Amino acid sequence: MAKTIRIEIIAVGSELLSPYYQDTNSLYLTQRLNELGLGVVRKTIVGDDEASLVRCFREALKRPGFVFTMGGLGPTEDDRTREVWARVLGRTLVFQPKIFDHIRRRFKRRGLTPPASNRKQAFIPKGARILPNKNGTAPGLWIEDSGRTLVLLPGPPAELKPMFQDLVWPRLQRLRRGHSIRRVLKLTGLGESVLESEIADLYPKDDPLSVTILSSPGQIEIHIYGRTDRSRSSLVRKARLLEKAFSDRLGDFIFSNSGEDLEEVVAGLLKARRKTLAAAESCTGGLLSHRLTNVPGSSEYFLEGVIAYGNEAKTSRLGVPAALIQQHGAVSAHVARAMAEGVRRRSLSHFGLAVTGIAGPSGGTPQKPVGLVYTALAWDTGTQIEKNLFLGSREYIKFQSTQKALDMLRRHLLLTGKKPAVRIRGRKGRRIKGKVK
Ligand code: ATP
Ligand code: MG
Repeated sequence: MAKTIRIEIIAVGSELLSPYYQDTNSLYLTQRLNELGLGVVRKTIVGDDEASLVRCFREALKRPGFVFTMGGLGPTEDDRTREVWARVLGRTLVFQPKIFDHIRRRFKRRGLTPPASNRKQAFIPKGARILPNKNGTAPGLWIEDSGRTLVLLPGPPAELKPMFQDLVWPRLQRLRRGHSIRRVLKLTGLGESVLESEIADLYPKDDPLSVTILSSPGQIEIHIYGRTDRSRSSLVRKARLLEKAFSDRLGDFIFSNSGEDLEEVVAGLLKARRKTLAAAESCTGGLLSHRLTNVPGSSEYFLEGVIAYGNEAKTSRLGVPAALIQQHGAVSAHVARAMAEGVRRRSLSHFGLAVTGIAGPSGGTPQKPVGLVYTALAWDTGTQIEKNLFLGSREYIKFQSTQKALDMLRRHLLLTGKKPAVRIRGRKGRRIKGKVK
């Protein structure tokens, strides 16, 4: 077998050493490199100051292999990655007019001219190959230097990912080791421990496959990952069988096996059934509508979102009777029902989806604690209301509330579609309790 390639990742940016920003780019890079059968041996986070950068880059150059740096390619004073690499490699910086032309064109599209500081981005170490940036001004660079390959990528993930995919990924194919596969199943409505107990016996033992469960409030992902130096088709077959075994156990708790988020799945179902939706939100403050409208083409099915935060607004915007709020409180099954039915009636949509709850951290009482959220779905012949008790921070509670509301709609659409929904049974024939985390 060929020798393994040494790969290092360096995340550049003082903000990444603060408590406010995380180096997520290196996770993305590691995942993609793993898909090629390549492992990362070292990850470093280094601040923007020149001395630290010089030390860090020199250290990385000591051994042959690949070094990926991310960030510090911008026009500002503290963006020094290009200059420092040039210095460490002993190369001069040369002005590349075509980079500056690209920057000028980007500014011109917005009716602007680039400030002088952007000229800096057109100076690159001699001999570097340019990786054009479709989504920003800073080009990436690919530099070969006596057995080392340095790949300089921009910091913003929205620039780094497409650049990596389009320009770096194809160049790495020659390094591919064996075959790998990754399947991701996304679930909602099950707690991690319930899930674990339902499927633990299916985990592969000494297979080329491994399983990782990634749990966050309101959503769980099952990652099936495998690598082999032998037959690709056998790896694919084994992964398919394992995925099927998980699906048989978990039924429609799984909302996606192709990377889609819940709002995208719901969007697809609404479009396929030619149905429309309106949302009435209280404690989620628009998050539900935000998620629904994040999906391109949402105007086809999403008619209206009302953030009826105060009691008055619930009455005036949605027609929730003031007496109902008075009698049961704004966070109640009655009000959730009236909100869903009200927004449906007023917007003339097929479905009305409503959320009312206590996101905290204050405002809870023993009867109505923080995390108590009612979600309701109204359609032409009925209304379904769910009482939920979510845990976690304000933001987590808001997200889980939208997740639950979307899932109620998803399940309703599955049931009313042509395909009957799978009856979910546990391994021993018992029904899995749909406990929402
Ligand atoms: P720009 O042209 O935007 O200045 P840049 O290549 O100089 O690009 P940085 O200035 O280092 O990049 O980072 C810009 C932003 O990108 C950071 O504020 C941060 O939000 C994000 N970012 C940078 N590095 C990472 C990282 N490793 N992981 C996730 N996000 C990052
Ligand atoms: Mg920058």
